[in-house]
Amino acid sequence: MTESIEVDVLVIGSGIAGLQASLDVADQGFSVAIVEKSPSIGGKMISLSKVFPTLDCASCITTPRMASVSHHPRIQTFTYSVVEAIRRVNGSFVAAVTRRPRYIDEAACISCGHCEDACPVYVPDEFEVGLGTRKAISIPFTNAIPQFPVLDMQYCIRCGACARACPKECINFLQQPSPLEITAKAVILATGYETTPMTIKKQYGMGRFPNVISALAAERLLAPHGPYGRVLRPSDGKVPDSIAYVQCAGSRDSSIGVPYCSRVCCMYAIKQAILLSGSLPRADITIYYMDIRAFGKGYEQFYKFARDMDIHFIKAKVARITEDAAHDLILHIERQEGTSAPEEVKHDLVVLSQGIVPGCDVSRFSLDVPRNEFGFMGPANEHLSSSVTTTTGVFVAGAAKGPRDIPDSVIDASSAAVEAVNYIRSMASGARHECKC
Ligand SMILES: Cc1cc2nc3c(=O)[nH]c(=O)nc-3n(C[C@H](O)[C@H](O)[C@H](O)COP(=O)(O)OP(=O)(O)OC[C@H]3O[C@@H](n4cnc5c(N)ncnc54)[C@H](O)[C@@H]3O)c2cc1C
Repeated sequence: MTESIEVDVLVIGSGIAGLQASLDVADQGFSVAIVEKSPSIGGKMISLSKVFPTLDCASCITTPRMASVSHHPRIQTFTYSVVEAIRRVNGSFVAAVTRRPRYIDEAACISCGHCEDACPVYVPDEFEVGLGTRKAISIPFTNAIPQFPVLDMQYCIRCGACARACPKECINFLQQPSPLEITAKAVILATGYETTPMTIKKQYGMGRFPNVISALAAERLLAPHGPYGRVLRPSDGKVPDSIAYVQCAGSRDSSIGVPYCSRVCCMYAIKQAILLSGSLPRADITIYYMDIRAFGKGYEQFYKFARDMDIHFIKAKVARITEDAAHDLILHIERQEGTSAPEEVKHDLVVLSQGIVPGCDVSRFSLDVPRNEFGFMGPANEHLSSSVTTTTGVFVAGAAKGPRDIPDSVIDASSAAVEAVNYIRSMASGARHECKC
């Protein structure tokens, strides 16, 4: 039987934008259902080390918001759940959601972790961007919310060790996906972003060379509770002496369909370089860049601070990366200033600053929200409201609109919450809602 609930606002996506929008709507007295496809709320921000330009701890900012959402009396959270379709019925939105099976009884689970301890199967850990391992049944990460384990059937060997170790007998290998229907007066789309797949830039060797890593993997290396507890290079556990950042490694490149600037890459590379020089004071850190785009409040000063710290900035294009027998990387570069003769430079760890692409193809929801040529959703008129779309009752927030930093995502989210609440109030009072386009 299909479970069904009714709320004022449906929020899709629980990154910082979805969390903020949900809290702002609920704090004004309206009910919210937040649907997240991952097993935990928190989005990308919960996996970051620190944030630019303040270098505040990312999880110290995100975790309290995650906890407030999960404990809020007016917010219902549905994790590990996928919105299949949304249809309009008498002015409301009806979302068909599939709750994916975790293969545990959530009502009985006490999050003791005995199942995880007993499981003999180790697999690459997605939260650590493949740098560490997790068990085939595991709680997604230390401060995940909710703290329920997920049994990954792709890797499960059906040995039954988890079921024998569970004191509450809540492992259920036969659990099935369950349908849920959410009826809402308004919808906020906060489906965020993904990074450009590095396999399309084959010349950089990610996936082939173990010491070429993504910027999100570097965030995990720098996080205090990261995979190794300190910065080590993946191939041999050596402390790296020489680290390179390759900027625009998946953006400003028409050949891969991402001709636009991903906005945050310059700043996150500078942030990571500053953090690395704190953890590895003797390491040589070089950023290979085309232009530095330090666009926000205090960002230019942050960049200057990095230059003063002796982080090297080289204006050069990296044509390709090769690897030697010791898994050191050779960057084939062409400087954009002074001599332009091709050069080869050796580093023992390389971080690729990937670009930003849409996190979800919202056309599958049939909501008719306009998207730009790259798939990001757009407000009807950015000058009048950053979150009102041309589809009445549907609002958009955060990186789902295009590459943006956390402060801009939070501002967007609060705007979407205010607009959604105003819309519901105007519907209740019978006033005609004027589209701001
Ligand atoms: C390496 C790196 C470092 C960064 N460092 C900083 C920094 O220091 N400071 C800063 O300001 N910014 C930084 N950023 C940018 C920052 O990550 C984003 O601004 C912010 O995370 C955007 O939040 P969001 O909620 O819009 O998106 P996301 O965090 O992507 O959240 C979207 C959520 O929606 C979920 N979702 C997607 N589709 C669906 C669906 N169909 N159904 C249900 N759920 C769905 C996703 O699973 C995800 O949880 C960094 C980015 C990168 C790549």
